Amino acid sequence: MLDFKDQVVIVTGSGSPKGIGKTIAAKFARQGATVIIADMNEEGIKDAVQSIESEGGKAFGVNLNVTDKESVDKMVETVMDKFGRIDVLVNNAGISQKVTVEDMTYDDMYRIFNVNVFGLILCTQAVLRPMKKAGYGRIVSLSSVSGKRGGGVFGGAHYSASKAAVLGFSKNLAREVSEFGITTNCVCPGLINTEIWKSLPKELADKVIDGIPMGRPGETDEVASAIVFLASKEASYITGEEIDINGGSHM
Ligand code: NAD
Repeated sequence: MLDFKDQVVIVTGSGSPKGIGKTIAAKFARQGATVIIADMNEEGIKDAVQSIESEGGKAFGVNLNVTDKESVDKMVETVMDKFGRIDVLVNNAGISQKVTVEDMTYDDMYRIFNVNVFGLILCTQAVLRPMKKAGYGRIVSLSSVSGKRGGGVFGGAHYSASKAAVLGFSKNLAREVSEFGITTNCVCPGLINTEIWKSLPKELADKVIDGIPMGRPGETDEVASAIVFLASKEASYITGEEIDINGGSHM
């Protein structure tokens, strides 16, 4: 078991009832961390905090819109005032959209990039100061297999482009902040057993499964395991990297 005792971990987008973020938050809490459930979804925040507390873990909910710099700065200020440290940021909040490139509007492109890229950069910027001051930090960002090989119309090409941008951002950041004891890595999940998977028409789901050597979608816990490792002290010499979690669908 990896030890996060006394550590404070922020997971953005962890208020989705069946999403990856909630599982990530729960896993950190089970390993001793105080987890910040940061999301726009008030009900989801309450639910995630309650579920961690019911297992004896420590969680604190904060309302966050990653696209709003004021909201992001306020979240970091609140966490620092209350807990005095931020050890880990997991950039998990993200959105996708089923649309073809031909039909995509400027608003569609902006909305996706605003959350998946600009929001992720705002959250990262905001934690850098306390991490630098502490001489320690772990940043793990959710990219996607779509950012490496395209995901098709279902997620949208703007989504794939945004997830490729996350990889470039994370690698550049690694070059900037390594000297301050901060590592920054990504995970690239393939299709995971969340609402997105459940919403796929059967024909498309069968086609997707055919392309996965392991013959099944991934589980949220399988994504969380890789993230918790990258965020741990054990991953001390890994930065600017990404871990593919896709059952062999892209290698
Ligand atoms: P989800 O839709 O279940 O959860 C996303 C969460 O982000 C929601 O709780 C939502 O409220 C929050 N969010 C959205 N916009 C926000 C904003 N502006 N500010 C704060 N919070 C905001 O998504 P998921 O399927 O759990 O995916 C989580 C991450 O994993 C995303 O970045 C996604 O792109 C990535 N990913 C998912 C899959 C998959 O198959 N589900 C595969 C690869 C990558």
